[in-house]
Amino acid sequence: MKILSVNAGSSSLKFQAYEMPEEKVLISGVFERIGINNSFYTIKINGEKIKTETVLNNHEDAVKILAQELIKNNVVSDLKEIEGVGHRVVHGGEDYADSVIINDDVLNTIEELSDLAPLHNPANLIGIRAFMKEIPSATQVACFDTAFHQTINKERYLYALPNEWHDKYGVRKYGFHGMSHRYVSNKVSELIGKENSKIIVCHLGNGGSISAVKDGKCIDTSMGFTPNAGIVMGSRSGDIDYSIIPYIMKKTGMNIDDVDTTLNKKSGVLGISEVSSDFRDVEAKYDENDEKSIMAINLFVNSVVGYISKYYVELGGVDAIAFTAGVGENSDFVRKMILEKLECLGIKINEEVNRSMRLGKEGIISDDTSSVACYVIPTDEEVMIARDTYNLVK
Ligand code: AMP
Repeated sequence: MKILSVNAGSSSLKFQAYEMPEEKVLISGVFERIGINNSFYTIKINGEKIKTETVLNNHEDAVKILAQELIKNNVVSDLKEIEGVGHRVVHGGEDYADSVIINDDVLNTIEELSDLAPLHNPANLIGIRAFMKEIPSATQVACFDTAFHQTINKERYLYALPNEWHDKYGVRKYGFHGMSHRYVSNKVSELIGKENSKIIVCHLGNGGSISAVKDGKCIDTSMGFTPNAGIVMGSRSGDIDYSIIPYIMKKTGMNIDDVDTTLNKKSGVLGISEVSSDFRDVEAKYDENDEKSIMAINLFVNSVVGYISKYYVELGGVDAIAFTAGVGENSDFVRKMILEKLECLGIKINEEVNRSMRLGKEGIISDDTSSVACYVIPTDEEVMIARDTYNLVK
């Protein structure tokens, strides 16, 4: 069965076509700068990468071209061969604990939840509607970033705020990066070969989050009501004392939107290093002894170590800690800093193996004597979307 896995952003659309259940990638690519000037798309097929510049006025243009490319590249001879299209949807609120087949009710709910994810859900919806139009015969499936975290219990997802804020306005911890946390925790559980496992997943990318997973179910996660909470990120502050917001507004005359933008786009590693939100740039400056970059990386590492320690206790000890996403998969430097700070728990890193683990490599980076097995696991949210879609279509 041929399945498409789709991730539509406000100006981009990533896709991957699979032969399922073999999970064979047939073609993949990304449309960029949709609705902006100089739009283009890149397609990867048979180890070749082809970039094409073209006008992409909207997502429908992108999906039309994608349909043509699928036929041109002999991925399908008729679009009807695509039996399912799985869409990454950022917010499923309290309504969805699993991926679902999209119908009118689901579309309405995703739309209603746009209040909670104004940057993401509307873009996800545009993508869904474009595929419904272009490949009407396919079953469309929504795979929510929040779904995996719906198993978190109330005493961990509720904020200590008036109950009405939760009951009437949906204010609570939701958690994000769910497809990644589910993929990585499943994989680690397979690798350690234990049914009852306690795993901490560190998804460290430009955005980052940490999850505590017990027996395959998420029991806590670091992101909150929005993806701005939790650890220090590339350009997001992570956890802060909320009183900073009214204080800084009064002091500087900034309005709430300016403060929101600053917390989202000018804080985190970028805000402290004043170099970049890209960890590679900041690490390079760290190596040159740049004080602000050293501080930025230290703040980031401390926040990650803080969540790992918290979840170690919440889980009552752990079998494994896994690193994933851009920084987690590639930065042996950051992983070493984090794991060395956890030595008091009996965690020991194998420095040589750790150094070699990058660019899509998967494996164990802890020493044989370590109390906890530590892994690098390249995440694969696309295959998770394809699996859920296949299972629902089948
Ligand atoms: P993601 O959001 O998962 O795509 O991750 C993006 C982040 O990964 C960016 O901040 C990159 O700088 C970071 N990254 C990618 N490769 C490396 C590397 N070799 N060392 C450090 N950070 C990296």
